[in-house]
Amino acid sequence: MAAIDGLPPLRDVIARHGLDARKALGQNFLLDLNLTQKIARTAGPLEGVTVFEVGPGPGGLTRAILSLGAKKVIAVERDARCLPALAEIADHYPGRLEVIEGDALKTDFEAMAPEGPVKIIANLPYNVGTQLLINWLLPKTWPPFWESLTLMFQKEVGLRIVAREDDDHYGRLGVLCGWRTQAHMAFDVPPQAFTPPPKVTSSVVHLIPRAEPLPCDVGKLERVTLAAFGQRRKMLRQSLKPLGGEALLAKAGIDPARRAETLSVAEFVALANNL
Ligand code: SAM
Repeated sequence: MAAIDGLPPLRDVIARHGLDARKALGQNFLLDLNLTQKIARTAGPLEGVTVFEVGPGPGGLTRAILSLGAKKVIAVERDARCLPALAEIADHYPGRLEVIEGDALKTDFEAMAPEGPVKIIANLPYNVGTQLLINWLLPKTWPPFWESLTLMFQKEVGLRIVAREDDDHYGRLGVLCGWRTQAHMAFDVPPQAFTPPPKVTSSVVHLIPRAEPLPCDVGKLERVTLAAFGQRRKMLRQSLKPLGGEALLAKAGIDPARRAETLSVAEFVALANNL
């Protein structure tokens, strides 16, 4: 039976192309097009939008994005075994799917960004997901080349992305994401939705760039958060000692008896700007 977009069901595509999932490539495939459409819809309207996707695999999410009207999908996939399956999708949607065989970590998405709106949507391979997010948060120019990021992570990583002060999951990633974006959890996806099922629950996270993040040197922000969260149970007067300790805290107007996880993003920025 054909799937909703007239292409064969993903289970058949995977069998026909011999796409047995490889753990080293973080391959956990989504076969339910209703679920992949739900993920794609989280990105908002796609008409007229170019979507960058990382790791299309057999193409479940790619098909959802195209069926919802994206102008074009540019997908970067490392596993050459997936290319024939993706070529079938490209034939079904002439001129709307470009597949680049390569490593997303080495891909300059900013340089590839076309004129017009760009959104990034991906069910990320878990081993490289956080690094890709950090790369997208730190492009050469801001506002960035993307209008939104709609990304699937392990739930634990998703919680760290959206965490703010006084939350156990708050840490370096939460500060970076909170500085540059407004991030929220969209929904969880249970292990059994994937083939093969991963060990843990996943979450879809949606991030919108802040038009004007507080001015700050990212290298300094990283030094401050590394020191502060490196000893997260200690008072800041202790954990920030190598960076100036009490004198630095006084300049930023922060009580030296506080702990890292109580500081807002704005307070971390104040510390970085006084380094
Ligand atoms: N999008 C598909 C889906 O939702 O069913 C597959 C998602 S699977 C979690 C991750 C995909 O990323 C796999 O197809 C894998 O081959 C690919 N991948 C892994 N590492 C990659 C990398 N460094 N660059 C590009 N793709 C990568």
